[in-house]
Amino acid sequence: MQDKAREGFVRLVPFILALTTAAMSARGSAELVLAERGKAAACAIVAAEDAGPSIRYAAEEIQRYVKELTGVELPIGATAKGLAIRLELTDEYGADGFRLLARPPDLLVRGGVRGCLYGAYELLETYGGVGWFASWRTVVPRLERLAVPAALDDVQRPAFTMRMTSWQDALRGDFAARLRLNGARAKLQERHGGAVCRFGKNMGSCHTFSFLLPPKKYFAEHPEYYALRRGKRELPENAARWGYTQPCLTNPDVLRIVTSNVLEAIKADPTAGVYGVSQNDNPRYCECPACAAVDAEEESHAGPVVRFVNAVAAEVERHYPNAIIETLAYQYSRKPPKKTRLRHNVMPCLCSIECDFHKPLDVSPYKSNVSFVDDIKGWTRQTDMLYLWDYTTNFRNYLHAFPNIMALQGNLKFFRANNVKYMFEQGDSLGLHADFGELRAWLLAKWMWNPDAPMAPLLDRFFKGYYGAAAPHARKVFDDLYSLPRDSVTQRLGIYEVVTSTNIPTAFFERAEKHWLAAAEAVKGDRICARNVEAAYLSTIFSLLYRLPRPRTVWVTRHPENFNYDRCRAYAQRLLAARKPFNLRFAENGEREKTFREEIAAMAAATMPTTGCDRAEVPASRLRLSVPGVRGEYAKDAGTLDGTAIKLFNTHYEWSVRLDLASVAYDPDVTYKVRVRVRVEKEPGAKGEAFWAGVYDTPAKKGRGSISVKAERCGDGYAWYDVCKWKPRDGQYFWLGPGRFKKNGGVSAIKSVWVDRIEISRVD
Ligand SMILES: [Zn+2]
Repeated sequence: MQDKAREGFVRLVPFILALTTAAMSARGSAELVLAERGKAAACAIVAAEDAGPSIRYAAEEIQRYVKELTGVELPIGATAKGLAIRLELTDEYGADGFRLLARPPDLLVRGGVRGCLYGAYELLETYGGVGWFASWRTVVPRLERLAVPAALDDVQRPAFTMRMTSWQDALRGDFAARLRLNGARAKLQERHGGAVCRFGKNMGSCHTFSFLLPPKKYFAEHPEYYALRRGKRELPENAARWGYTQPCLTNPDVLRIVTSNVLEAIKADPTAGVYGVSQNDNPRYCECPACAAVDAEEESHAGPVVRFVNAVAAEVERHYPNAIIETLAYQYSRKPPKKTRLRHNVMPCLCSIECDFHKPLDVSPYKSNVSFVDDIKGWTRQTDMLYLWDYTTNFRNYLHAFPNIMALQGNLKFFRANNVKYMFEQGDSLGLHADFGELRAWLLAKWMWNPDAPMAPLLDRFFKGYYGAAAPHARKVFDDLYSLPRDSVTQRLGIYEVVTSTNIPTAFFERAEKHWLAAAEAVKGDRICARNVEAAYLSTIFSLLYRLPRPRTVWVTRHPENFNYDRCRAYAQRLLAARKPFNLRFAENGEREKTFREEIAAMAAATMPTTGCDRAEVPASRLRLSVPGVRGEYAKDAGTLDGTAIKLFNTHYEWSVRLDLASVAYDPDVTYKVRVRVRVEKEPGAKGEAFWAGVYDTPAKKGRGSISVKAERCGDGYAWYDVCKWKPRDGQYFWLGPGRFKKNGGVSAIKSVWVDRIEISRVD
């Protein structure tokens, strides 16, 4: 039965309730009544004793919710004489499919190891009106009686073999099972019928080469095992991230080592079933002549990957005939190879990471989407176990509005049409309340089961269920967001869109705030709905906060009253206070998360002076140093006024010390002066520039005054140097770099430059 019919049925409930049991016989047994409020249980739940934990759990779930629906506790037993809900395990509909069949006096719930449980949920959802909207939000209506049509015969099979999402709440086992999610990321137990497609330990679905061929272990002695890039085998400069390279896949020793490590990993976890052998998360594929020749022959960088993984899989099959080897079709390897076919025991995992997500993948004219359509068709011609990794949130700013919901159903229809079997919809697994995250997880689950379920009734159900009396207000935010125009080519909805992007106007968030405040009024006293509204409002607050002017940290103004951060501070304080209780996560990347937390904490603590001031000093600790460790470092130095300096190395002459004028409170159209306190450590006898400094105007692409100081002019200790006089504007910044020298073969005139502080003062 499809949703249209279901919704129709819900509307019919009052009518059915009006029927009496007598009407049943009069109308030729129009329905089977399973429970009636106030009456003794006339129906039993029957499950064979040896039917297994998931069947037993299905019986308990029916018992629990029928009692909540009607007040009637149905007994569970191995047999029954009269009316019974009979749970029967069968493979007829696959592991996840089921059949609900009314065969008076019985209602049969027949299904696979998970299917029987899903059939129980179908019964409760469709005929009882139970809604599971979040693990903390279940809606159970009060029914006078629970009945199903006497002619009920509903067979359902899911559209995808694996249905998985990483939205955090949907990883909880009980809730995941109620959403009919069966992927191994969810904490599914035996009682839920377990999970499908479990990956081996350390052999997950992505980026396992760094585990299988660790650069830490091999690179020093065997650089030739790793990618040749621009003529060199080397770990990139920022290789602090372990594994930030790729193997050379045409090197026979690499194949030998990786194969042996794969066999070891399978041996350590032989029941897993699937083992990932896949490229690391970076674009540094090998450019050596052998790899490049395969690339050319296969017209894709997937060529070396597939040939390599096929070879591993061939050896694996000799030892583990049932093991499946999974590999990524990701970024540079997304296009399938032209000649080589996947072995029958290799599963490709195709990833949509670079696409536009505002419209369905096959509808958006964005260039990566167009090529994605070709790529998926290529892969699906090669395999009947295509794994699809799709992206459903903004990974840079989880809380920021990410209007992809209108694309989700179309995407799942597109994936089904292209024979995808294993479906992974990646969400925010690190926090609990990304922008409309609960809605997204719920819809994805519904559509992974049945991509044809109509959207409008699903949206209505969710909003009413999840927000309660606040639903109309929450819906206004949603409808507003999804009515904003967006051009697929020039305004691609990418998964790293910045929070300040003008693709979503600030005016939208201002309107959203008003709706959330009205929503909060509507659910006052309803603890759970009030919390749901607050969580959603926090998302809006996050986006608004990052669109307000940042509090200034350096004050050289006679009019501090012109700078007011009350709103900014209030938002930041609210986010800060809610972060732990609401389990908020701002970004996927750990470094970015740390920066967000620090910025928000600083905004929450922002202070303003009450009196004006004409002069300020900014110590080194508050100046920005770019590429710390490479261009320079924060260092102790007794000669400074507070003990700390920025020490700049002589290996470069980049503008590396910086202060943005946007962080300075100054008076407009007034001339200021900046000077800097510096110590130069000279090379004995060397002549040339010791350092240079100035003010640059980014919008105007123009300097506003600068100095170049010769080493010969400098003494040994700290001294003040005047840099320039100018009229500050936001968008400008102060900069300083170590002295310039000839690019080819030149030598710096200094050992290092030590910056103590800068001073900004009003001239007129
Ligand atoms: Zn190579």
